[in-house]
Amino acid sequence: IWFHGKITREQAERLLYPPETGLFLVRESTNYPGDYTLCVSCDGKVEHYRIIYHDGKLSIDEEEYFDNLMQLVEHYTKDADGLCTRLIKPKLMEGTVAAQDEFSRSGWAMNRKDLKLIQTIGKGEFGDVMVGDYRGTKVAVKCIKHDATAQAFLAEASVMTQLRHTNLVQLLGVIVEERGSLFIVTEYMAKGSLVDYLRSRGRTVLGGECLLKFSLYVCEAMEYLEANNFVHRDLAARNVLVSDDNIAKVSDFGLTKEASSTQDTAKLPVKWTSPEALREKKFSTKSDVWSYGVLLWEIYSFGRVPYPRIPLKEVVPRVEKGYKMEAPDGCPAAVYDLMKQCWTLDPAGRPSFRLLREKLQHIRAKELHL
Ligand code: AMP
Repeated sequence: IWFHGKITREQAERLLYPPETGLFLVRESTNYPGDYTLCVSCDGKVEHYRIIYHDGKLSIDEEEYFDNLMQLVEHYTKDADGLCTRLIKPKLMEGTVAAQDEFSRSGWAMNRKDLKLIQTIGKGEFGDVMVGDYRGTKVAVKCIKHDATAQAFLAEASVMTQLRHTNLVQLLGVIVEERGSLFIVTEYMAKGSLVDYLRSRGRTVLGGECLLKFSLYVCEAMEYLEANNFVHRDLAARNVLVSDDNIAKVSDFGLTKEASSTQDTAKLPVKWTSPEALREKKFSTKSDVWSYGVLLWEIYSFGRVPYPRIPLKEVVPRVEKGYKMEAPDGCPAAVYDLMKQCWTLDPAGRPSFRLLREKLQHIRAKELHL
């Protein structure tokens, strides 16, 4: 990954030392926010080309326009086209090299040649999701574009390699390409996201036993993350996937951490995020517990959007005054009680995932007359 984010001209020149004609990197322009700078080493000097961002297009010479940095770099790799030299060797970001090495050493690096991309099945915040074939196994592939997001992911990826639980969507491997994309390969979840699953089947198909099972699956995954001091930050039914054999698994962990810490609160999923996380960016297992309460509500209302009929901008002020959603139709009182406990304004007053799991198991035992 040749994108180095916001570094200064001097830092860029240091990174491109010792001189090597064709060695390059891209940084964010410090003088022109929103623009980029292509820095190229050429005959012992470093040239800095301003990349102008205009109407969604990027250009250096205002003759040739590109949709993204990848295409621009690709173009000037083939041909100098007015630059002092064509781009020959990307100066990789330190963390990228480290991550790449770490993936290889720990056995998570996959071979691009073994992966066949078959078709696009979803669009996520971080790029397209495709179904693929890896040595005969159906897999899901997240194709992350080569930019700051990819770096944010790489920083988190080593954490993901250490998480393993039946109710977490399992990472299978990572492919870091020299130029081009970053592929994150995970197990394939044939029945898609839990929110779509609940909406499409509805009350007539899904019985209480089934809803309780989904609640427990998610809770068990979260208990595992809790025990490993890992905060999800974006727990919601849309980030839970369902396998061919109807097992619900939590997905997108590790991907969101970097994003939300730099994110302005305007971009957070307001209806799922706890008041203290919205107000002071205080994310913790307890803020995940709050989100879990909202997820329980989604499950028992068959995928409805939370806080129905309340305008978005009224949600936070009302919640902060202690407003809590009503029980979904037909929701057992014991389950609604758990939701309300998750929505305790004081984070310390919320139950742990461990306790929630125990209580859900009790509810299940009672319903099954065990
Ligand atoms: P995401 O980027 O995680 O929000 O994913 C976007 C969409 O792609 C999801 O809503 C799913 O429909 C689909 N998807 C993501 N991951 C998988 C997976 N492991 N298996 C099957 N479908 C997936």
